[in-house]
Amino acid sequence: MKWIDIHTHKAYKKDTDVIFIRNAYMYPVVSENKHYLCSNGLHPWKINDPFDTNKFVDLLTRKPVVAIGEIGLDRLKPDFEKQLFLFKKQLQIGQQFKLPIIVHCVKAYPETIALLKTYPAPIVFHQYEGNSTITKELLAQDNVYFSFGKQLFRKQIPECLNQIPLERIFLETDTSPKHVKACYSQLASLMNIEHEELQVQILKNFKTVFAKKIA
Ligand SMILES: [Zn+2]
Repeated sequence: MKWIDIHTHKAYKKDTDVIFIRNAYMYPVVSENKHYLCSNGLHPWKINDPFDTNKFVDLLTRKPVVAIGEIGLDRLKPDFEKQLFLFKKQLQIGQQFKLPIIVHCVKAYPETIALLKTYPAPIVFHQYEGNSTITKELLAQDNVYFSFGKQLFRKQIPECLNQIPLERIFLETDTSPKHVKACYSQLASLMNIEHEELQVQILKNFKTVFAKKIA
């Protein structure tokens, strides 16, 4: 049974039982390893890097690329207007390609939700931290998924966890050196279920979200 790491900044080299989506920013990734997938996009912390539309479109047509990301908005970082401009630009291109997106959102849920209302492909909120009102609003949109990682290991676990059905959940390691299997164990114990049940459901979610790209 496969393990899915939906968003990571590292590459699993030996674990062939892990399917992972590596964040590749605006760089091409070429690999023959079929477990090696990636997302491309201009991160809201990197808005002063050049954004070349042609290069971006070219990246999105390459084989290991299954999503645009991480892209989004971060109120704790500079130049919100420029972040908005680049987020919208990437969303427009994503709309044309109908590609799933991996979203980074920090203290900017109202703006993000408004922009994603009509997005025509799956949306994964990585490192999701929304409160219960925001979660309720996002759950009403059936193409929205929620990814959890390091916040599962805090003393105070996310209050939204018992609101979100397993069919809408992913796990991730992001920049943490942890193995994704540790996240499965942690979530399984928090939910009082077996990790096999989680594996089955998350693999199903993965196939649903990335159906077009992994067929
Ligand atoms: Zn990340």
